[in-house]
Amino acid sequence: MRHNLLRGEMLRSRESWLESLSRNLAARREGHLFRELRPLESAAEPEITVGGCHFVQFASNNYLGLATHPEVIAAAREATERFGTGSGASRLVTGSMALHHQLEQALARFKHTEAALLFPTGYMANLAALTTFAGECDSIISDKLNHASLLDAARFSGAAHRTFPHCQYRRAEELLQRSQPDSRRFLVTDAVFSMDGDVADLAALADVAERTDSLFFIDDAHGTGVLGPRGAGLAELQNVEDRIDLTVGTLSKALGSLGGFIAGPRAAIDTLINSARSFIFTTALPPACAAAALAALRIVEADPARRSRLARLAHHVRTELRGMGFDCGSSTPPATPIIPVILGDAAAALAASDSLKARGLFIPAIRPPTVPPNSARLRISLMATHTDAHIEQLLEAFRELSQKRGLCVSPSA
Ligand SMILES: *Cc1c(COP(=O)(O)O)cnc(C)c1O
Repeated sequence: MRHNLLRGEMLRSRESWLESLSRNLAARREGHLFRELRPLESAAEPEITVGGCHFVQFASNNYLGLATHPEVIAAAREATERFGTGSGASRLVTGSMALHHQLEQALARFKHTEAALLFPTGYMANLAALTTFAGECDSIISDKLNHASLLDAARFSGAAHRTFPHCQYRRAEELLQRSQPDSRRFLVTDAVFSMDGDVADLAALADVAERTDSLFFIDDAHGTGVLGPRGAGLAELQNVEDRIDLTVGTLSKALGSLGGFIAGPRAAIDTLINSARSFIFTTALPPACAAAALAALRIVEADPARRSRLARLAHHVRTELRGMGFDCGSSTPPATPIIPVILGDAAAALAASDSLKARGLFIPAIRPPTVPPNSARLRISLMATHTDAHIEQLLEAFRELSQKRGLCVSPSA
């Protein structure tokens, strides 16, 4: 059909397309909601270079500093030299390298599950988790502040999907009770909430799941490597590992690599291998990523000092910022490395981020739609490799910001 169109008509439709895009972008700019990419010229370390300028950053998920750990880099280099840069095919064709199998076994041991399966990203792991096991006759009940990938996954699954207000588990239970009686029910939550840094009460949710005969899936992208005595995540910390039916995690945060995984019962993993479209129709993780994650996992297990330093810093920074009158959300222990400073409107968050930038601190403003309207914020991510001097510099800048803005109470969302 297209080539039957007159040339002029094609051009007109292209023109009107680009015009409408420009209009939408201009509206975004006006609302302080325009996003753009800034090339980073250095590694994901506490000190970075962006556009030729030097900053101390509080904006990386490389929580333990493992993305630049010499042993992790060496493992990635060796794997690349031996096995090449790309895996060459999907897992079910010829892309399933021994390294992937080794990492999957290590992840299953780490998460205390029968088996685990790798995906190219955590996003794709979440897609697989819900679209494979939930279908049109089923019900998914999820926390309103769950990660966008879980929301997308719930939509793609075709299941009836309802959200409950953040951490309001009585409401979750009501929704589960009200779902179709013979449908399979899924209760789905982030373990650590990525924009608020608070955590779910997994024991309370496991009780809800039990009472309503639901399956209980968690996404512990931010807790993996960070929380728990062995660093295995929030479920380990809250002592509920055996009450969770399926765990999604990522290699891309504390483990310093790229890739997602699902850990759970053998039958669930075999089903994913046989039917998950975001597993089957995509190329296997590059060998360097798998080897780096394996090395990172070894360090997580052998070196608890990194996560205990991170927890100490997280507790200290939260306490100090709250003491200055900032709204750091409602999180209670454990202190996660994600600390929001909620400022209200997008313009205020952007202005605060800019003024911190002028002081050499890189802390992004997070705006709607990533967070709910009127809860635009600065989002601080801490790393175990931040020095005490970095932390003092951060707190000094916020002290000044609070005085400049007379910011004792922020507008609540
Ligand atoms: C980052 C994140 C993901 C996605 O993981 P990627 O590996 O980056 O695709 C999924 N869930 C949560 C809660 C996250 O924070």
